[in-house]
Amino acid sequence: MSQYWSDLAASLTPYVPGEQPKDRKYVKLNTNENPYPPSPRVLEAIRGAVNADLRLYPDPTCGDLIRTIAEYYGVTPEQVFVGNGSDEILAFSFAAFFNPGGEPILFPDITYSFYKVYAGLYGIPYRTVPLDDEFRVPLEALSGPNGGVIVPNPNAPTARYVETDSFRDVLTRNASKVVILDEAYIDFGGRSAIGLVKDYPNLLVIQTLSKSRSLAGLRIGFAVGHPDLIEGLNRVKNSFNSYTIDRLALAGAIAAFGDQAYFEETTRRVVATRERTAASLREMGFRVVDSAANFLFISHPDRQASVLFGELRQRGVLVRYFNQPRIDNYLRVSIGTDEEMDVFLRAVRDILNG
Ligand code: PMP
Repeated sequence: MSQYWSDLAASLTPYVPGEQPKDRKYVKLNTNENPYPPSPRVLEAIRGAVNADLRLYPDPTCGDLIRTIAEYYGVTPEQVFVGNGSDEILAFSFAAFFNPGGEPILFPDITYSFYKVYAGLYGIPYRTVPLDDEFRVPLEALSGPNGGVIVPNPNAPTARYVETDSFRDVLTRNASKVVILDEAYIDFGGRSAIGLVKDYPNLLVIQTLSKSRSLAGLRIGFAVGHPDLIEGLNRVKNSFNSYTIDRLALAGAIAAFGDQAYFEETTRRVVATRERTAASLREMGFRVVDSAANFLFISHPDRQASVLFGELRQRGVLVRYFNQPRIDNYLRVSIGTDEEMDVFLRAVRDILNG
């Protein structure tokens, strides 16, 4: 606490990202990064953009990238917004679509922990909807008076996916409110709701290039929705920072959508490694929540997750542990390469036998 902080700054409970330690080399399975490098075409495009033009501001409308994304998903450029990571789009969305002093917004009790942080930042009231014992999102509970709805699909950190069409009822029931589907992990096994945007003007779908396109370090996210929603986001963005995406990021992101074969191959590999890892963990007695993401949510009946977390860390394997009600006996394990998952599985076996 500092005397110099505003009342707002003093009141905040900021998000805590997964650690990026430098003290030794870890097998890093704690921040859901992609274990494969970005497409070589992306690196080439970024290198090509390292030139004297960096003295110039980037295109504030991100026109080329927006047209690329629109074409890729078969929507119009007026239906697309891009941001500095999907976190930034989430932050803008809370300001653009949810009201302080209004009805509470709804999201699951176990979900991406940034939602509470944004609600705190803007003073937006919220009500959490409990997942069932199988960690399924109870869609029927996403109704009644509310100020809007936000759900990740697949959910985080549970990895569970809800069939996209089952959100149609939620969208209809909440027709006067914005429903945000956060699809950070959709490419690892789900079907995107971008196809529903034409039917529901209140739907905003948010995705990221951080996971399936191996570009967490570039910071690019995008949203697809009705042009009115996109205009709302642009109003907020242009009241904050007109140049959220730099020239190198624009060049890299455009190239990422131009290498479909690489995207499909790396995604396929992550999924195959996930399934193999899940099977090995189940053999060792773990409960493994069905995953459509690039991570697994796991729990062992005889071993406390907090202890497992520490023992894995000692063995040079970093995973994520959330000391929160209902999930404090679970670990979230990002999917690495096959070699990394073998190191992880050996360490787990070692701990269980020790
Ligand atoms: N949504 C969810 C559910 C996430 O897990 C993450 C990654 N932490 C994000 C959004 C943000 O990703 P990024 O800002 O890298 O696009």
